[in-house]
Amino acid sequence: MLNIILTGSPGSGKGTQSEVIQKKYGLEHLSTGDVLRTEIASGSALGQELHDIMSKGLLVSDDIVIRVINSFIDSRSKDCKGIIFDGFPRTLVQAQALDKSLKERHLNAYLIHILVEEKEVIARLLNRGKTSGRDDDNLTSIQQRLSVYHEQTAPICEYYLKEHNYFAVNGNYDIETTFSQIDTLLSLLK
Ligand code: AMP
Repeated sequence: MLNIILTGSPGSGKGTQSEVIQKKYGLEHLSTGDVLRTEIASGSALGQELHDIMSKGLLVSDDIVIRVINSFIDSRSKDCKGIIFDGFPRTLVQAQALDKSLKERHLNAYLIHILVEEKEVIARLLNRGKTSGRDDDNLTSIQQRLSVYHEQTAPICEYYLKEHNYFAVNGNYDIETTFSQIDTLLSLLK
């Protein structure tokens, strides 16, 4: 299996690149943000709790997202070509949990870091907010999400650099330019 972790700040294009990779390589796409938003849309009590956390731009607890990830891996790992993890792991605890889950199943994952300048991601997210209907695409939540990213998510890169396979691409330009770098990497890794 070719398992890919896409990481980068909010607005770096993880979701967009996941869709393009999924089409070309036939991998399964797991966006923890999408799974959590589906739970919110279901109107459950858990969904209400998630909404309160996510609309503030804060992270959902590690326990909840680790459960989501493990059940996804179990449901897909038998006969799929690989998984794109989009927006997970976002903390060191999640990185260690993913590592453990993959190792138990004799699998591994490569991390691809999409690097984009901060002023560019703020412009993209504000623009997306005009049509996305997402409660967290407003300036206050965006700034909160960026600070959460720097404090809690960026440190996972060092973890993958030391322990695993870390690759970085320049995501400042258009979708095709970013994808061509990812495509080159994946054709070498698969
Ligand atoms: P995203 O769709 O990836 O931008 O995620 C939107 C929001 O969902 C984040 O700001 C978090 O509140 C929550 N979320 C998504 N993935 C995770 C994760 N791996 N850990 C904790 N919270 C998450």
